[in-house]
Amino acid sequence: MHMEAAVRLSIPLASIAVSAVLLVPAGTATAEPPAPPQPAVRDFGNGPERNDEAAGGDERAQALRTAPPAPAEPSGGPSRDLGYPRRTTLPEPAENPADASVKLGLVPYHGIAPKLNDLQRRSDRVSAEIIGRSAQGRDLYLVTVTAPETRAEAREQARLRERIAGDPAAAARDRKLAARYKAPLYVNANIHGNEWEGTDAALRTIEELATSADPKVAALLARTRLYFNVTANPDGRVNGVRPNGNGFDLNRDFVTASQPEVRAMRRLMIDAQPVTMIDLHGYVNGTLIEPTTPPHGANYEYDLFIRNAYANGLGMEAAVNGLGYTPEKDGVHPAQIPFRDSAEGWDDWPPIFTPQYAPFHGAVAAHTVEIPLRVNNADYTNLPVEELRRRSAINTDVAAAAIRASWAFVQDRHDTLIADQIEVFRRGAAGEPSRTVPLGIVPGFGPEDVYTTTFPRAYVITGERSATAAARLADHLVANDVRVGRARHAFRAGGRTYPAGSYVVDMRQPKRGLANVMLEPGADISPRVDAMYDISGWSHALLWGATVEPVTGQAPRVAAEPVKAAAPTGSVPRGSGPLAVAVVDAKEVQAVNDLLAQGVALTWTDDGRVIVPASARRAAGTVADRYGVAFTQAAGATGTPLAPVRLAAAVSADELFTLRELGFPVTPVSTAVLNAGFDWSATDVLVVSSGLSHAALNPAARAALDAFLTTGGVITRGGTGAAFNAAAGLLTVTAVAGRSDANGVVRVASSGGPVGGGSPDHSFVYAPRWFTGLGPEVRVEQAYAADGPLVAGHWRADPRTGAGGPEQARGQAAVVSGRDERGAAVVMFGTEPMFRNHPKGLFPQVARAAYWTATAKAKAAAATAP
Ligand SMILES: [Zn+2]
Repeated sequence: MHMEAAVRLSIPLASIAVSAVLLVPAGTATAEPPAPPQPAVRDFGNGPERNDEAAGGDERAQALRTAPPAPAEPSGGPSRDLGYPRRTTLPEPAENPADASVKLGLVPYHGIAPKLNDLQRRSDRVSAEIIGRSAQGRDLYLVTVTAPETRAEAREQARLRERIAGDPAAAARDRKLAARYKAPLYVNANIHGNEWEGTDAALRTIEELATSADPKVAALLARTRLYFNVTANPDGRVNGVRPNGNGFDLNRDFVTASQPEVRAMRRLMIDAQPVTMIDLHGYVNGTLIEPTTPPHGANYEYDLFIRNAYANGLGMEAAVNGLGYTPEKDGVHPAQIPFRDSAEGWDDWPPIFTPQYAPFHGAVAAHTVEIPLRVNNADYTNLPVEELRRRSAINTDVAAAAIRASWAFVQDRHDTLIADQIEVFRRGAAGEPSRTVPLGIVPGFGPEDVYTTTFPRAYVITGERSATAAARLADHLVANDVRVGRARHAFRAGGRTYPAGSYVVDMRQPKRGLANVMLEPGADISPRVDAMYDISGWSHALLWGATVEPVTGQAPRVAAEPVKAAAPTGSVPRGSGPLAVAVVDAKEVQAVNDLLAQGVALTWTDDGRVIVPASARRAAGTVADRYGVAFTQAAGATGTPLAPVRLAAAVSADELFTLRELGFPVTPVSTAVLNAGFDWSATDVLVVSSGLSHAALNPAARAALDAFLTTGGVITRGGTGAAFNAAAGLLTVTAVAGRSDANGVVRVASSGGPVGGGSPDHSFVYAPRWFTGLGPEVRVEQAYAADGPLVAGHWRADPRTGAGGPEQARGQAAVVSGRDERGAAVVMFGTEPMFRNHPKGLFPQVARAAYWTATAKAKAAAATAP
């Protein structure tokens, strides 16, 4: 976090007197207060992200997990006020013979802490710290390798780092800064749990640096700080799988930060501010070393980035090839650099990956490195142990060579890399326009590599649609080290008036690239690129439920307080009588589910509101405070009685996480679970998007399901859901599949139905679907807009048939609801409202679908009662 968090807006002179203290908090680079003692484990789920969806979710996920509980927090811990070495004794986990690393002859998770404790005893160059805990409660280890520093030296390093990011123009003028500043280098290992050897290479190279008598190593450590995140994903390492204990691919989570491991890495990148980083993966043969193919992210200072990244890539390539492994003898092919060697398919467009996120915090070279020899998945199971160990040994050599080349690069270009990092922040703070990178800046940089964007002067975030969503977004930006101000008074900008309390993001700030990559709509890149590696569209402005408006031209003239945490949003009106809450935001879903879990007798109205009886006003006050939810006075206690909606869910891991985060009681189910004889008596609604095939159900399971469908509701999503709908004979629809690799942000038009009503004007799709041939029982809740629908992302028609493109989806039903002839209430999504826990503003659609499907039966029964 910057100490200089003041938002530098154009401030009317008259208001400076009243707000100067708030605008420039104590603790700038020149007047540095003693840092408060910090806990040993920084809990990134709390603090500034108080309003973030992820915060509550962690607690819930931890409560539900099956792994051993997190150990007690050790004393001591990281602080900018300590020198190096720090000599933290890491707690040593119990030996786990089932750790998947063992088979490969690699260091198991439980072997890491003893090794680091030993190295800390043997060397004054090594400091190990715990920077967080995994989803399953394992410690995350940060190792800093550097020459010893006194407290004063460490504080001077911190002061210079803050100056670089906080006052880059001054840092750029300081010709002596680079000589006094240790260049930070970040090595990230094992973010995919079953891509193991980065960890072993990190441990090996840490030991080399710790014990070497080579004067060149001493010189390196005198001018460099090397940060190693030894295993970014200990759950996956132990379990031998790619994701963490919550089932998330951590290397897709950086724009969302839903997972504790990612929040720890984010904090590390902000605090360490590395000039370069490498992220060690597997397995691509020959070793793949970024920079990438187009499209290139438009919010980077790419001229600075590509020069350094290409040079470091060439250095790593030479080091890897220099190991002498050959295709003939070892099965190891020469290294490859996608930017140079491939046309497309390995891009740096979405900042969801570690090396695509790091540049926004000042990394001017950042690389995915894919080591060569596959040892995971089927190979892990099927290959002989000796062959696996042969491969893992080579992979460790390759990863270590890449790490060494990277530190040699930082040693060689020390001053240049620091100057380029300062320049990134300086351009941001100055609000300079996006630069067009000159062709040929490095060999092969052609027109296909040129991507630019337009930075507005500011963004204004208001609670117009949802105050809790605005608070969540402000907190998310602050957690990403983006400066946000909160308007002290109403102001005019861009021809309209914004109320006091609006959040203002001045785009003249060092990390404006990160602010913009989250707040701009994004771009439709379908015409420019044939194939993308992962998602192509995201937008916190369009998908997180807040109202976000860019301001161009003149800066808003407003006194704004720097935001450390968004303002509280919860309230209950005075008086007696029943209360109402509109289910517009995920926070309202959490509040409603909390009240239901307490046994409060709520009712659901099909206009998307929940009514709280007068007798529960005290409970409403508590959840208003806990979730930041605003209740209003209700005219009367109307609606259908609502009980806790118990879900049986055949869904993907991210959807399960999201449903539980929202506070729904969820029982995971699958074809196998139903075939084993599932007891439906504690289920109100079945959710189907993954892992459930109606055709594969045995007769008993089918009969039990049919019985459930006479009382329960169904929510489906995607192809699996649509197939289930057809096979179970639910709604009369034809589900049409768009291209399976199409994804992005789409414009939608919602009806006033219980699911679509109150939705944002945008949604997210991945392998989009739409519904035609609607029966009379089917209502369109949401349709793809007739203009567009693609706003940002990549979505083309099938080149052979011309079908499946966005033109075909135009105006078609994207979300439908209805009641089948048995009476089952069904909602079908052709969109992706819970994708990777990202589109926070869409989660309430799923909750409203749950409330509506759970109550529709009771409502119908009441209507037909005599
Ligand atoms: Zn990977």
